[in-house]
Amino acid sequence: MRTCNKCDETKPLTSFRKDKRIKSGYNCKCKACFKIDEAAYYQANRAEKIAKRAIYRENNLDKISEAGSKYYIANKVKIREYQSEYGRENRHIFNAKGMKRYAAKLNASPSWVTKEEHEAIKELYKEAQEKGMHVDHIVPLQGKNVCGLHVLANLQLLSPTDNLSKSNKF
Ligand SMILES: [Zn+2]
Repeated sequence: MRTCNKCDETKPLTSFRKDKRIKSGYNCKCKACFKIDEAAYYQANRAEKIAKRAIYRENNLDKISEAGSKYYIANKVKIREYQSEYGRENRHIFNAKGMKRYAAKLNASPSWVTKEEHEAIKELYKEAQEKGMHVDHIVPLQGKNVCGLHVLANLQLLSPTDNLSKSNKF
């Protein structure tokens, strides 16, 4: 048995960390106290690091923003071109991906949907984009009474006006 010099509790040796630097071979703090101290040290250290970074930023604001804007100016045209071109060509992917993420969030994207079906869904979004149509969930993902699934069978192409006038009858 050994008494922890922090919490003053007497505990079996297994409750202490081994420490070769100490005569008895065990740390003077029990494991539980050690953990508490460690967490406190970590927190203090973290706060210090954050504070240091904030001070650095404040003192180097010019340098930081200058570097950032220099890069931006040098690459502005390129960045914009890339974004618009890539965005235009791949809008259907963004749409399909965005919808997949949204459906997953709503739990509407069942795990049994195959890779092929995901591909087919992507194609549908591509087709919609080419035809200037909207991909519509026949049964909405979040209807009033029922919730549709984000699966091919529940998707249809609608013209933008149809889609806007579609009332939420579910
Ligand atoms: Zn203790």
